[in-house]
Amino acid sequence: MMAAIGAAEQKAKVLLIDKGNKLGRKLAISGGGRCNVTNRLPVDEIIKHIPGNGRFLYSAFSIFSNEDIIRFFENLGIKLKEEDHGRMFPVTDKAQSVVDALISRLKELKVDIKTNSPIQDVHYENGRVKSVELKTGDVYEADSVVVAVGGKSVPHTGSTGDGYAWAQKAGHTITELFPTEVPLTSSENFIKEKMLQGLSLRSVALSVLNPKGKVLITHRMDMIFTHIGISGPAVLRCSQYVVKAMKKWNLKEVVMNLDAIPDMKEEPLFQDVSKKIKEEPKKSIKNLLKGMLPERYLLFLLEQNGIDPSSQGASISNEKIRSFVKACKSFQFKVNGTLPLDKAFVTGGGVSVKEIEPQTMASKLMEGLFFCGEILDIHGYTGGYNITSALVTGRLAGLNAAVSARIV
Ligand SMILES: Cc1cc2nc3c(=O)[nH]c(=O)nc-3n(C[C@H](O)[C@H](O)[C@H](O)COP(=O)(O)OP(=O)(O)OC[C@H]3O[C@@H](n4cnc5c(N)ncnc54)[C@H](O)[C@@H]3O)c2cc1C
Repeated sequence: MMAAIGAAEQKAKVLLIDKGNKLGRKLAISGGGRCNVTNRLPVDEIIKHIPGNGRFLYSAFSIFSNEDIIRFFENLGIKLKEEDHGRMFPVTDKAQSVVDALISRLKELKVDIKTNSPIQDVHYENGRVKSVELKTGDVYEADSVVVAVGGKSVPHTGSTGDGYAWAQKAGHTITELFPTEVPLTSSENFIKEKMLQGLSLRSVALSVLNPKGKVLITHRMDMIFTHIGISGPAVLRCSQYVVKAMKKWNLKEVVMNLDAIPDMKEEPLFQDVSKKIKEEPKKSIKNLLKGMLPERYLLFLLEQNGIDPSSQGASISNEKIRSFVKACKSFQFKVNGTLPLDKAFVTGGGVSVKEIEPQTMASKLMEGLFFCGEILDIHGYTGGYNITSALVTGRLAGLNAAVSARIV
């Protein structure tokens, strides 16, 4: 949609073909149905939040940035508001209003829209694009083609990975696809026995460890225990590091470290707990420590460390208190994978960015061919970063597809 608008604004004759019965189905469910259109952090920060080839976007951002996205939508009458971590949402809190605004603009620019029209193939001739062929056999000749068919995640929205074959046919490399921004699975007993299922922890520091126990990445956000493992923002952000670690070291399991009290160091925390016990030695430990952690997690950690939660504080050995405090700061458990690609929020891997012109999104291998959005080997954290990447690359692909078509 963004590419079609960009091209039409350059006065190109544009045909937008989508296989679905409506446009923007994934956008309409993104950001919890509110559409996290973009993010207001400075460009450097945005790039940092796109660990999958974010740096490729520097040139693109210098032409059309997150601030331009904000202006673009405000010009379409979509007022945006900023929430935590710079996340921008429509004030309506409805993703559909963003999709509708894009469709109105497409109509205003008289873009020809064809829905319910799956594309089967893209044809090339003499080193340039020639046409696209629909599943029905209908063929549309074109001087420029922008491939914006997304990745392979959540296929019911239309993104079933069809574009990778068309890119390969043009000579492009598809880097290995993998699920990212995805819940993690675990076969630890406490998960299998659903001891913590449904428990949310706020603002914890969750880390992925390498086989030597060194921290690969830490994310400080919320998380939740599920019936098969862990999920929530901190987990989604850590997920790609788990996938990469499993691949890099050929691991069946990866160790996670959970610090549930990241604002306090271990020793002061131990002193604090000891003081509480000294002040009220006869009180049960679970009541003494009430409020220190969510109750279910507190009871879980006490039991994991061999402490009966109803026992009096003074009756518990110092070693046990120490190991409990250590677990508050560093509870380690193993994860053994992720949900599959179709359940991931985002597809990692895709059309290699080495073969794409960073300022135009043009293929370096085939004249008149452009790529944008999630089909590219670019993946960011949730928080508006993927949508930003799709909108920025879409805008550039559209503008330059129009320019390229004019030259033919
Ligand atoms: C539940 C969910 C929540 C998300 N939340 C966020 C978030 O908060 N922040 C964030 O940054 N990102 C989020 N994302 C990711 C973000 O939505 C995607 O990265 C973004 O939509 C990618 O845009 P795209 O245009 O490249 O692909 P898509 O949005 O997937 O669009 C591809 C389009 O191509 C069409 N198509 C596919 N194959 C064909 C074919 N053969 N012929 C014709 N048409 C075809 C599809 O029908 C579809 O309309 C979320 C994703 C999901 C699933």
